[in-house]
Amino acid sequence: MLEVTDLEVAYGDVRALWGVSIHVDAGSVVAIVGANGAGKTTLLKAISGLVPAKRGEIKLSGTSLLGRLPEDIARLGIAHVPEGRGLFRQMTVLENLELGAFQPKARANMKRALEKAYDLFPRLKERTGQKAGSLSGGEQQMLAIARATMSEPSLLILDEPSIGLSPLVVQQMFQLIEALHKQGVTILLVEQNIHQALKIADYAFVLKTGELAMQGTGAELIADPEVQKAYMGVL
Ligand code: ATP
Repeated sequence: MLEVTDLEVAYGDVRALWGVSIHVDAGSVVAIVGANGAGKTTLLKAISGLVPAKRGEIKLSGTSLLGRLPEDIARLGIAHVPEGRGLFRQMTVLENLELGAFQPKARANMKRALEKAYDLFPRLKERTGQKAGSLSGGEQQMLAIARATMSEPSLLILDEPSIGLSPLVVQQMFQLIEALHKQGVTILLVEQNIHQALKIADYAFVLKTGELAMQGTGAELIADPEVQKAYMGVL
């Protein structure tokens, strides 16, 4: 579904990614892991059109995304939940969700999408009239993800969904991602929480200082002594 080939991205003279190729199959969960500054967020931003590619190709179901505006890429079916969530804090849960269905097609299906979102996120249904800014961190992250699902995207991109959450809420977040996966949503996920991410990932890519260092199924990478030593604190 998503094919990134030989991607190079730079911020001025600073090269953030080079020669990066990844693929995401329809219906799968794919994790991008790696240390701070490895280029994970940059990769997601390049896919969503938020930073330009210097070289390479990015295709969604055969359509090139290069040079397109972020809103065009969203219209093509990619929903991106950035780190920091980007919620409208003064607006209610329901208003935030409605904003997720901003495209004409999504607006027509809004009722169905809202029901689906509230089924998956009952906590949000209970808090439908509450201001987003008054929710707990975990609830805000859930709202950000639920809002992204309102456009019924073909690819859901999540940048560090578990960041800043307590261990219990992190567990709930990963369960939620698995539930979305079971519903058939294709997910590309960046995570610092490498062990958890690899546990739920069908496939994963390890980035190291802007380059692809390793790839494999989640299970293969969890079992890899090099990954354990470098990223999971195993001595
Ligand atoms: P983190 O987990 O810390 O967010 P990351 O793996 O997501 O790290 P990126 O945020 O993609 O990494 O950053 C990759 C490199 O690009 C880093 O060296 C970073 O300093 C640099 N970089 C990121 N954003 C910018 C920017 N707007 N301007 C200049 N350099 C940037």
